[in-house]
Amino acid sequence: DELRGEVARDNRPRQVPGYTYSRVKPTPVRDPHLLAWCDELAAYLGIARPAERGPTVDALAGNLVTDTMKPFAARYAGHQFGNWAGQLGDGRAISLGEVTATDGSSWEIQLKGAGPTPYSRRADGRAVLRSSLREFLCSEAMHYLGVPTTRALSLVGTGDLVVRDMFYNGNAKPEPGAIVARVAPTFIRFGNFQMMAAAREVDNLRALADYVIRHHFPELGSPSPAGYVRWYEEICRRTAVMVAHWMTVGFVHGVMNTDNMSILGLTIDYGPYGWLEPYDPDWTPNTTDFGSRRYAFGQQPQVAMWNLARLAEALYLLVGDIELLRPGLDVYESTFERTRQEILLKKLGLTARQTEEDVHLIGGLLEALAEAEVDMTIFFRQLSHVAPALIAAPEQEYDRFHELLAAASYVPLPNPAHSPLLDWLRRYLPRLREETTTATAIEATMLGANPKYVLRNYLAQRAIEAAERGDLSYLNTLMEVLKQPYAEQPEHQEFAAKRPDWAWEMPGCATLSCSS
Ligand code: AMP
Ligand code: MG
Ligand code: MG
Repeated sequence: DELRGEVARDNRPRQVPGYTYSRVKPTPVRDPHLLAWCDELAAYLGIARPAERGPTVDALAGNLVTDTMKPFAARYAGHQFGNWAGQLGDGRAISLGEVTATDGSSWEIQLKGAGPTPYSRRADGRAVLRSSLREFLCSEAMHYLGVPTTRALSLVGTGDLVVRDMFYNGNAKPEPGAIVARVAPTFIRFGNFQMMAAAREVDNLRALADYVIRHHFPELGSPSPAGYVRWYEEICRRTAVMVAHWMTVGFVHGVMNTDNMSILGLTIDYGPYGWLEPYDPDWTPNTTDFGSRRYAFGQQPQVAMWNLARLAEALYLLVGDIELLRPGLDVYESTFERTRQEILLKKLGLTARQTEEDVHLIGGLLEALAEAEVDMTIFFRQLSHVAPALIAAPEQEYDRFHELLAAASYVPLPNPAHSPLLDWLRRYLPRLREETTTATAIEATMLGANPKYVLRNYLAQRAIEAAERGDLSYLNTLMEVLKQPYAEQPEHQEFAAKRPDWAWEMPGCATLSCSS
């Protein structure tokens, strides 16, 4: 009630000046049935696992709206691929309201694919099974990897068919629809503030900022002009931490438009995302971005900063002087560099020393990785076993490195003696030997920092294909495996395998479009 909500009489697309959100009812679907459920999140929220069909599943499909729910769609704008796009808003996401978790904290539950809203523009407000399943799986995988992210509670099949994009399977064939219930303290984005600023709705802008600070940044005290500056710096800091995680785990968001940037620094809006298999800074899974590669893996740190600068341009209306917000971008840069360095040193089993030598060691690693065409995840995981073992066995260096590179490489190793990674490994080992702790302790640290299991693109695709045939067992097993990404789980070794040859060119594995 602190924010201005419009009570929509209908869901027809329109401009909605003057409001921060629109009250809107989800559109019922034909046959809501539960496909997947996250037990841990549900237990935390105090929600019992429902049967395949019934009132809880109806609610999570938008078919049942209880008295305590006040469903709404938010009004936001954004820069898409660098261009100002005007009003966008929740075109297919409808929030049901908030629930209180077992620890007293508040969580918003939002249905993605629950039907048209005033912000649907020319689209249908629906989501297909493959895209909802991808969001469900990836947000949980990211959470268990320790990456700041929105969560996913349920995946519900709708029993309706949805026609999506003509690039998938070469034609616009109807596909099963599904709705994911995603969960976060709030889904407010940079774009919500950009919307108010662009429309010169300064009262709405301030109300929204004050609301977010009061509810989500209480440690900053009551809102004030100086408080907005500190708040912006905190957003910059959190965004830097998030992107540092992406860069060290090999995650490519794929569509870092300003409307897909959470004000809480959470990974949000899982669309055409992907995971690096060969370490390639130029890689993006997003076919819509193949021309400019604006959102390729290696671009993400600077794009996040560009997006933060756009946020500053919106918040400037509250602060009065854009210069006051500039230090936030310095906070972003220094936090990003420091956090990435910390994480990478941990991945290498090294205690941070803040030396130039370590900065060069890390820089050299990233360059060598980019040249070597090795699988990022396998490389680091294998290194966690191999490097500590070599502390006491230098004579085995060459053989063990060669084995490691062969296991991780996507190309035949022509002359391993001249691999840039091998050169790097020979600089790294002496540094590792300077560590004062035991090889066993180093191995444990490294195994806890280098996941064995990530959501490889082909694994997600396998889960989709099985689910489309009505078989949910692959999805469920994969989900369980991804909940312990740092554990060995030898019985699930197959989920740690390098991208197989068949997956290289396949839609869904190598490439996804924005409309996925
Ligand atoms: P995205 O690229 O998924 O972040 O979406 C960008 C904008 O398009 C957001 O305003 C979405 O709500 C909207 N949008 C995407 N897909 C649909 C859809 N199927 N129906 C309505 N709006 C959509
Ligand atoms: Mg979006
Ligand atoms: Mg999306």
